[in-house]
Amino acid sequence: MINWGIIGASTIAKEWMIHAVNACPNSQVIALLSRSQQRGDRFRNQFGIPHTYTELDTFLANPDIDVVYVGTTNELHKPQTLAAAAARKHVLCEKPLALTLRDAHQMVQACSEAGLVMGTNHHLRNAVTHRTLRDLIQEGAIGNPLAVRVFHAVLLPPHLQTWRIKDPSAGAGVVLDITVHDTDTLRFILSDEVESVMACTSSQGLGEHGIDDTVMGVMRFERGTLAQFHDSFVIGHAGTGLEVHGTDGSLIARDVMTQHPIGEIFLRKGNQLKQVQLPAPVNLYERAVEHFNAAVQGEGEPAVTADDGLRSLAVALAVQRSAQTGKQIPVTYA
Ligand code: NDP
Repeated sequence: MINWGIIGASTIAKEWMIHAVNACPNSQVIALLSRSQQRGDRFRNQFGIPHTYTELDTFLANPDIDVVYVGTTNELHKPQTLAAAAARKHVLCEKPLALTLRDAHQMVQACSEAGLVMGTNHHLRNAVTHRTLRDLIQEGAIGNPLAVRVFHAVLLPPHLQTWRIKDPSAGAGVVLDITVHDTDTLRFILSDEVESVMACTSSQGLGEHGIDDTVMGVMRFERGTLAQFHDSFVIGHAGTGLEVHGTDGSLIARDVMTQHPIGEIFLRKGNQLKQVQLPAPVNLYERAVEHFNAAVQGEGEPAVTADDGLRSLAVALAVQRSAQTGKQIPVTYA
């Protein structure tokens, strides 16, 4: 049995991650750290978590914890990951890994030097829809991918209208929240790296003090594919989607930029539109935990590695910089 400790009595832990860890036959949540005793108690009662803590040191001193899931606000990912690595715990960290690339490198290095598994919790690659898109592109179903459009504009639910739209010190804004996910998904389905970006952000009603709640932009990939993205917290009725247009056909995916295992894919060639048969859906977060558990047992890698998290952060930071400067920004990964 692989024992997980959860850092942060957060929405993502409550809605997805605690269930995901406990749903895997070889893992269980045995501990939770919350700065608030009251929130910790609520989680303990709701999920039957045996140990709750309010201090990081005492949490990490629990020798039974094998894996730490860092699911707190973004500015805490670095200190909590470094502390977990020093306590010799494997780390699954939420995206964005950190607020700067330098911090993210430090986290990745600390885990790697200690011989620990570190992963990034980008969920979308675990969806059968995105894995099918990747397979179809690799099989040449649409020829050479030339252009991508990502629609990831949603309405931020009221219970999440907190630090994301208010607190720059916590890494607020739509770019660090959603564009990182687009980046990881596109790198995965295209098997390519982002070379440069151009973007424009806006505050369209939710973002306070000029915090971006909307971004539109373009990523240029190394093999020449251009990907256009629209990410937002203020669009309630658009639905999400992703399209990849190639030399020989187009893949059109609807309702796929979501935490839920839903969505459809169509292949269009000329006037022919065919729905792609998908494998049975799987819970995205359970698959992430399954792969992480396997990696801890020496089998393969996490579904999304620490290096993948570094790369999605690098692109998001370049997107922010492009929006600030009005210039096309080459992405620096080092
Ligand atoms: P929340 O705002 O729900 O929680 C963040 C932290 O705030 C918690 O760790 C908790 O810390 C504290 N907190 C929780 N409730 C309250 C409250 N009522 N009042 C004051 N503080 C509170 O964040 P999310 O769950 O939305 O996001 C957490 C992380 O997960 C972020 O890094 C985000 O980017 C990522 N995320 C990833 C997703 C994915 O699909 N991969 C989806 C959603 C988020 P404590 O208990 O220690 O005080």
